[in-house]
Amino acid sequence: MGCMVEEHREKLFKRFPQLDLMVGTRNLRDLPRLIDEVRQNRTQVSKIQRDGISIEYTDMIKRKTRDHAWLPIMTGCDKVCTYCIVPTTRGSEVSMPARDVYREASRLVDEGVRRIMLLGQNVNSYNGIGTRFPQLLEMLCEIEGLGRISFTTSHPQDATEDLFQVIKRNSKISRRFHLPLQSASDRMLKRMKRLHRFSEYQEKLERLRQLVPDISITTDIITGFSGETDDDHNQTMKALRAIRYDGAYIFKYSIRPGTPAAKLSDNVPEEVKAERHAQLFELQKKIAGENSKAWFGRVVDAFVEQPGGREPGQMICWTNQEKKVLAQADPSMAGRFLKIRLESLRHETFGGVIVNAPVGATS
Ligand code: SF4
Repeated sequence: MGCMVEEHREKLFKRFPQLDLMVGTRNLRDLPRLIDEVRQNRTQVSKIQRDGISIEYTDMIKRKTRDHAWLPIMTGCDKVCTYCIVPTTRGSEVSMPARDVYREASRLVDEGVRRIMLLGQNVNSYNGIGTRFPQLLEMLCEIEGLGRISFTTSHPQDATEDLFQVIKRNSKISRRFHLPLQSASDRMLKRMKRLHRFSEYQEKLERLRQLVPDISITTDIITGFSGETDDDHNQTMKALRAIRYDGAYIFKYSIRPGTPAAKLSDNVPEEVKAERHAQLFELQKKIAGENSKAWFGRVVDAFVEQPGGREPGQMICWTNQEKKVLAQADPSMAGRFLKIRLESLRHETFGGVIVNAPVGATS
C-alpha cells in the first residue's frame, strides 16, 4: 500500500513539476501551516518532496541551529493511552522507509549538520518496511560526519533489550533516554492504558543503566489523573526517589476533549492536583540537582555549538547526556566534539573547562 502511494506521488510530481506540496488526509488540519512554510521556504519543501519523502510521513525537518536538525521519522500512534488525543488526530503509525531516513540524514550531514534528533510520537515503535528502530539507529551511526543521534519520544513497551544493546554499542547515540512514566501506580497505569506495570518499567531502566552506566534518564509525569488517590500519588513520589531521574516534565491532568479519558470524571480537585504537582516538582528538583553535582570534576565529550552565556568568549556546549555547558572556547571550535571538565552548576547549566584537542566528528 505504501509503495503504491509513493508511485502515485512520483507520477504527480513528474506531471506537475511546479508542485511544491502534496498533502494527504492525515495532514489536512495542518494545511494553513504547511502553505505558510512553502511560502517561506519553497526551496526546501520542494527538494524534500522531490527526494520522495512525503509530508504524509512527516512534518517538516527543522534546523535548530546550523549543526542540529530535527528529523521526523514516523507519525501517528497505535497505542491507546486514554488521556491522549494523538491516535485520533494523527491516526495509526506510519514510518518513513529506512532508506529515506538514511538519505535525508546523509543530506543533512552534507549540509553541515552534526547532530540529529529523530522525532516521532512513538519513535521507538518505528517500523520502516521491516527495519525496526534499533536497526535504523545502527544504520544511521554509519554516516560519516554525523556526531550524535538522539530521539524522542519513547514508549516503555518498545524500550527493548535490542535497543539498549544498540545504544551500548554505539557511542554516537545520545546518552539521554527519555522514557515517560506518567504514574508509578499500577492502578493508574491501567486506567491510562499504558500497557505495562510499574515493575516492568523499572526493570527496563535498571537493565539500561546496567548496560550504559553513564545514561541520563528523564521522564514525563501526569499528576491528578481521574481517580488518583493519595496512595497512587505516594507511589509516584516513591518511584522518583528510587529511580532518581535527571529531569522530569510534570503535568497536572486536565481533560482533553475527544479522548477516552474525557468520559471519566476529572475528579481530583484542582487544589489537590496543585499540591501533588508541587510535591513532585520539589522532590524532582532536589534529585536532579544532586545528580548534576555528582558530575562535578568529570571529563565528558561535549559538542561545541555556538557563542552564548553571560560572559564574553563563552560557547554553548552539549554533553552526550544533552546537558548544557558554558565554556570558554574559540568560536572556530563550533561544530566540534571536545573533552570538557564539568566544574560548576548554575540552575541547570554547567560551567566547564575544555581540556583537550577535538575528538570524534569534526566540522
Ligand atoms: S501518549 Fe504517546 S504512546 Fe500514548 S497514545 Fe499518546 S502518543 Fe501514543
